Amino acid sequence: PIAIEAAKLTKIYGSGNTEVVAMRDASMQVAQGEVVALLGPSGSGKSTFLTAVGLINPPTSGQITIGDKLVLDGATAHANLRSFRRRHIGFIFQKSNLIPFLTAVENVQIAMQLNGQSKRASYRRAMELLDYLGVADRAANYPSMLSGGQQQRIAVARSLANSPSVILADEPTAALDGQRGRQVMELFAKVAHEQGAGVIVVTHDHRSLDVFDTTYEMEDGILNRTKTTTMEVSK
Ligand code: ADP
Ligand code: ADP
Repeated sequence: PIAIEAAKLTKIYGSGNTEVVAMRDASMQVAQGEVVALLGPSGSGKSTFLTAVGLINPPTSGQITIGDKLVLDGATAHANLRSFRRRHIGFIFQKSNLIPFLTAVENVQIAMQLNGQSKRASYRRAMELLDYLGVADRAANYPSMLSGGQQQRIAVARSLANSPSVILADEPTAALDGQRGRQVMELFAKVAHEQGAGVIVVTHDHRSLDVFDTTYEMEDGILNRTKTTTMEVSK
């Protein structure tokens, strides 16, 4: 089954002689359980693609289907994007974006409480996730007391809290050393395989590419699949 289908996404910023075509006819299918690496030079359109699929920065034209729901068709949204995004998409940024005045566990809980879960249930689930990610002993710490790697693990826990069917990460390991970076990548693969989520990770780290099922490359706004190893995309 398909987790994500992006069909002919084009994004034009500005207009007239300030017009920039950041992405043209970019298409990608990601199966449930598939982990995709998105490579490409700076300015090639990777963030534009990822934020389009993440329903943060809608494309100028093209269709986005999540699961079996056509969510976005050009400028027309077929879902309440905010709540759809919160329920179905986990987004991880380059920097962890944790809320500084909440503890680690509260940072994870807040994602679930915004979805209407009780404090008690969200606490249990948050602690389970922190345990799963190896940072349960940091639950009561504020972000400023944690290392970059620990902060990123908590951000990953937060992104997984609502069991999203789609996980999108924009250079999530940029702030981490090679070993820690690899662990985060392996974690995405584990979650994808265990939960059947579709995962797209923008990365420059060529040493961890073996973790991914499929590799795409963006160049001047054109997206190409460059490697397929294990996954066959089928409906
Ligand atoms: P990457 O993530 O690969 O570095 P981006 O998607 O950020 O690439 O950018 C692709 C192109 O779109 C670049 O030419 C960039 O300057 C342009 N761009 C990105 N965001 C905007 C914006 N908000 N307004 C105008 N141009 C933008
Ligand atoms: P490891 O592979 O490191 O031994 P496990 O997969 O056995 O870790 O999980 C360790 C703990 O995390 C267990 O308590 C388990 O219930 C919990 N756990 C496992 N998978 C998930 C998940 N997807 N979401 C939340 N908790 C999980």
